[in-house]
Amino acid sequence: MSCKAGQRHHPVRVRQPRLSETLPGFGQPPPVFKVSLPPPDLAMWRLPPSGVPGVWIFDSGRSGPEIVITAMVHGNEYAGGWALENFRRRGVSLISGRLTFIVANLEAFDRFDISNPVMARHVDEDLNRLWHSTRLNGRDHSSELERARQLQPYIARADLLLDLHSTLWPSEPLFIASPRQRSAELACALAAGRNLPQTVLTDLGHQGGSRLIEHAHFMSPGGTGRSCLLEAGSHWETGTVTVMESAIERLLAQAEAIHLRGHATQESCEPALAVVTDNIIARHSDFSFVRPWEGGVTIPKAGTPLAHDGHDLIYTPYDECLLIMPNLRPRRGQLAVRLARRTASPFRS
Ligand SMILES: [Zn+2]
Repeated sequence: MSCKAGQRHHPVRVRQPRLSETLPGFGQPPPVFKVSLPPPDLAMWRLPPSGVPGVWIFDSGRSGPEIVITAMVHGNEYAGGWALENFRRRGVSLISGRLTFIVANLEAFDRFDISNPVMARHVDEDLNRLWHSTRLNGRDHSSELERARQLQPYIARADLLLDLHSTLWPSEPLFIASPRQRSAELACALAAGRNLPQTVLTDLGHQGGSRLIEHAHFMSPGGTGRSCLLEAGSHWETGTVTVMESAIERLLAQAEAIHLRGHATQESCEPALAVVTDNIIARHSDFSFVRPWEGGVTIPKAGTPLAHDGHDLIYTPYDECLLIMPNLRPRRGQLAVRLARRTASPFRS
């Protein structure tokens, strides 16, 4: 039986009369994370020629797109720091326009401790939830808000923004774009390149606030700024740096075409589009997946049990359900996993 677009064959959450004995959760995995990649030396980024810590600008001297590439919005995701530092050291040959590299959260990075590597994600709050004007122009103060306000002029001038991230739990790399056609076009143009993740996911953001890729400059109807985010692999693995460098090379080579036409001049493969349908929030502290799912896995059948949450069982609601970045140890109230459906066109204007 074929599955029509939008059709669901099973409820996501079903309350059980009592805890299932046949589907035990796999329990809480031990919080031990392998750090194969050492932290980069970012000394040169402390006081760069731009005068703003973490901001390095390359100007071709010719008119062209404003390209902005951000890394380490989360301080412990330093694969992105490696990627930008490698380009800075090797030098960048820019065809046209201007390129701005931003190592975003140096203060959090400075707190990195290999014995507890998850702690350096932020200082006061998540820098990737602050990009709505109500926060940026509001009266609150935090280390991350001050930084967001300092970086905002560079973000607001970007024609093309690529925000580099990595994941704590194992997950297939993928691009994420907000539901704006111009940004989905950027993500698809990058995903069509060689040695890059093929999946382009569009979503409706997170409850906790606006991400960098959702700054008004990229979201406003009729605007021209395009943005996307790359989840390039695990935080502390060399392969993640390689994926990020491939994405940067692709963006620099295709920037003018993407900026002017919305697509690249060379495409090695067809991007695979997907749209988030469900954000599964852990309602109970005992939330546990029935197995340690990896992000990027597609579950063929609707009604496949995914997780326990208190007395509830969580199921796949439709066939060919794609799991997006499962958080294998969610706290109560945290996002545990997102479910996505493959689609032909996720675009909205
Ligand atoms: Zn991140």
